[in-house]
Amino acid sequence: MKKFFRLVGVIISSLALVLVLSACGSKSLADQNVVTRAKRTNTITWGVKADTKLFGLMDVKNSHINGFEVDMAKAITKQILGPKGKAEFVQVTSSTRMPLLKNGNIDAIMATMTITPERLKQVDFSRSYFDAGQSLLVKKGSPVKNVRDLNHKGATVLGVVGSNSVQNVAKFAPKARVLQLSDYAQAMTALKSGQGEALTTDNGILAGMSVENPGYVLTGGAFTKEPYGIAINKNQPEFKRDLNQALTKVEQSGQYNRLLNKWFGNVPGMNVKEMER
Ligand code: GLU
Repeated sequence: MKKFFRLVGVIISSLALVLVLSACGSKSLADQNVVTRAKRTNTITWGVKADTKLFGLMDVKNSHINGFEVDMAKAITKQILGPKGKAEFVQVTSSTRMPLLKNGNIDAIMATMTITPERLKQVDFSRSYFDAGQSLLVKKGSPVKNVRDLNHKGATVLGVVGSNSVQNVAKFAPKARVLQLSDYAQAMTALKSGQGEALTTDNGILAGMSVENPGYVLTGGAFTKEPYGIAINKNQPEFKRDLNQALTKVEQSGQYNRLLNKWFGNVPGMNVKEMER
């Protein structure tokens, strides 16, 4: 009988232990303290674009992603974790970045993402690290000179799912039809094959496309303000503070300006002197 009760006791206490352990483990990845985990693993995992020349573009030869945002993410990682800190990169698109962050697959998004009031309801942002503005890319010689020229039935504007650029078309050219592609590589292909009169997104992204495709030019200037921020999950005040402090250090050390010049210095239409901090 005694043995039986001892056995029951053991079973009950192991069940209790399992319950306690699973309760600890049930804290979802996105809720865990990012700074504590990053220090333990010596790694910050960043969501970056892989289809966006100048900001984040995959080099198919070695599968490395290169661009201004990749370099910035590396610099910020080293500021937070020290010189041996590792930045890992996960490829995102305008529509996958938010769910990947919310599910805890990435710690932060540095992917041409504008700080907007709608997005601030779902995620937090660092302060802005780049000032972009929405513009248009058209074929050289196109009659479209600015966004108002697209405000008629029969005009098709190309954009990317998950970008706020496609929503802005409804404000600036409400009569135009918007065709949303899944990423910027596909949107450029659609423009080249004549599926729309113009491709719309931020000027820096379009400048990168125009470098690759000299027959296509930016037109009409910037018609919105798009300040890019690093998006992180809510309830990560320590991470947000560290990111902002790291950003300040990267700016004050002159590294920010060096990276701006490295990526945008020779790009027609980008005035680096105006962008320097
Ligand atoms: N900055 C805009 C946005 O956050 C357009 C660029 C993009 O698609 O990432 O939606």
